[in-house]
Amino acid sequence: DVKVSNLNKIFGDNVVLDNVDFTIKDGEFFTLLGPSGCGKSTTLNCIAGLEQPSSGAISVGDTTFVDTDKKLFVPPEGRNLGMVFQSYALWPHKTIADNLAMPLQIRKVDKTEQRRLIDEALDKVGLLHLRERYPHQMSGGQQQRVALARALVYSPSVLLLDEPLSNLDAKLREQARAWLKRLQEDLGITTVYVTHDQDEALALSDRIAVMSNGYMIQVGTPTEIYETPATAEVAAFVGRCN
Ligand code: ATP
Ligand code: MG
Repeated sequence: DVKVSNLNKIFGDNVVLDNVDFTIKDGEFFTLLGPSGCGKSTTLNCIAGLEQPSSGAISVGDTTFVDTDKKLFVPPEGRNLGMVFQSYALWPHKTIADNLAMPLQIRKVDKTEQRRLIDEALDKVGLLHLRERYPHQMSGGQQQRVALARALVYSPSVLLLDEPLSNLDAKLREQARAWLKRLQEDLGITTVYVTHDQDEALALSDRIAVMSNGYMIQVGTPTEIYETPATAEVAAFVGRCN
């Protein structure tokens, strides 16, 4: 499981995360949902190791990544987590296969094994036939799947996705949503998903954490969040006005 305990983050005098606390079960699709600026990316970046929390602890399984009490901080490359950003961040001058090779080279995987892992990851996202293309020769949806394949290529323990569909137009986003859900279920990989789109959260998630202003207001299944919102703010945010 992924355990986030009493996470606080302060930028200057701005409290961005205020005692954020949750546990994600193995294989769960867990979504951080909330309006712009509520602290979703900061939470995800703390899990990834791209941000250091002001205080709190984060662990995955038996491994503690951060514990400010013990002055423990494992850097991102020591965490074996897969991450996809909103912008995909593919290398434009590298082929798709070479884009996937980068994280494997960093991990000093030998060439033959690299090729096998790259083809396996591209096959998972249905893009093996495009392995020698460059990013600009692909659609936005295909690029997004390459970014996902690159995050999966070294078999991460957890997948961290920060608004990975937000660059796609409405129709592609709908398709990508269904496809992403199926892939996550097939792989059974624990996933932390960030979005401000309530429909996306309700459609994809096993559980949703609704955030506002650095607080976690409610954590529950899509049905619980939708049927029994804890506050008027949650109700308004998931589109229930009663
Ligand atoms: P969005 O949906 O717009 O991506 P978010 O929920 O992901 O929003 P965060 O990126 O986590 O929000 O930002 C939360 C707050 O922290 C915002 O007020 C933001 O301005 C602030 N913040 C984020 N990163 C920094 C930083 N490096 N320095 C100072 N303030 C920051
Ligand atoms: Mg964000």
